[in-house]
Amino acid sequence: MSRSLAIFGATGTIGDNALNLVDQHPERFHVSVLSAHRNTEKLAVLARQYAPDILVIGTPDGRKDLLQKLPDFKGDILIGEAGLLQAARYKVDVAVMAIVGFAGLAPSMVCAEQGSMLALANKEALVAAGPLLMRTAGQNKTQILPVDSEHNAIYQLLQLQTEETSHKSIEKIVLTASGGPFRQHTLAEMATVTPAQAVAHPNWDMGAKISVDSATLMNKGLELIEARYLFDIEPARLDVLVHPQSIVHGLVYFNDGSVLAQKGCPDMRVPLAYCMAYPERIASGVATLDLAAQGRLDFEAADRERFACLALAEAAMQADGDAPCVLNAANEMAVAAFLDGQIGFTDIGDVVDAVLQDHDVGGVDSLEAIVATDARARQVAEQKIKRVR
Ligand code: MG
Repeated sequence: MSRSLAIFGATGTIGDNALNLVDQHPERFHVSVLSAHRNTEKLAVLARQYAPDILVIGTPDGRKDLLQKLPDFKGDILIGEAGLLQAARYKVDVAVMAIVGFAGLAPSMVCAEQGSMLALANKEALVAAGPLLMRTAGQNKTQILPVDSEHNAIYQLLQLQTEETSHKSIEKIVLTASGGPFRQHTLAEMATVTPAQAVAHPNWDMGAKISVDSATLMNKGLELIEARYLFDIEPARLDVLVHPQSIVHGLVYFNDGSVLAQKGCPDMRVPLAYCMAYPERIASGVATLDLAAQGRLDFEAADRERFACLALAEAAMQADGDAPCVLNAANEMAVAAFLDGQIGFTDIGDVVDAVLQDHDVGGVDSLEAIVATDARARQVAEQKIKRVR
């Protein structure tokens, strides 16, 4: 039976990789929903190629543009957040959530209510509202499969557990980090790097926001929080290991001294294939990992002094409640300001720190409360950014 897919954020790199897998396995998958924020050009091309039932685009003008480009399109073209939420209710076998940032939270919550599979590539939803999202998925028997390569690695490793070796035998879970393009930069050198340098990631081909997050190591901090909720593991048992080659993605340490590690070439089609075909495995088109050619794998401790964002994320994870939501909102604002040339690279951590300092930690009780907390944190971040500028 062919699986129906919804791909939210279809015009980004995760969308490209998911659709590449569809192309490789046309008998296995068909596309029912495609969404894009504003890239009508590419969405129109994808609509012609995959003939989905539903398209979602950010604005009414975008819809007009799509109607012009697709005079013969038979499906619905929905608009904005309301359109996204409506599309998230459409019955599919697997929803791939690849919308970037906090905007992915509300549609992820709706997907979590559907009782099917949610292949989650958006990490901010778990960071901002982890307990709420996991509870909603659990209550509705929705299976959340992590697309994020490190979490996908850990998810695979935890599948090897039996009832006898469950959670209590896990000593710690470790996520690897490439270290980003500035792994060997001094703080002084980092202060002057440009957005173009920050988005040039050594191993992974990704969007601008996540590339900057990888350069500050905020990405790894967000991933620790993501893992904390996804795997229900306390902060003290989560750690980061810098591994420049990005071959080992995650490690699980057991109390008997055994350490399991998942490896693979750094290509998002590996974790996506796992999620989209779960529980089966399918070919991803990625070259076989050649460890002899690779020759060596290096590891080093993460430096929290040069990479203040990692320490800030760990502090927010420790504080729990809505602190991760505030961290995420401040970071999204600071990264946007950096990409826009308004603040420097090392100012990103300073802005996030200042916003967190201003915040009194509260709970994560409802989506409405989280949306309000996010909005407040963005306002405070805006003021802090003005002060730096
Ligand atoms: Mg990752």
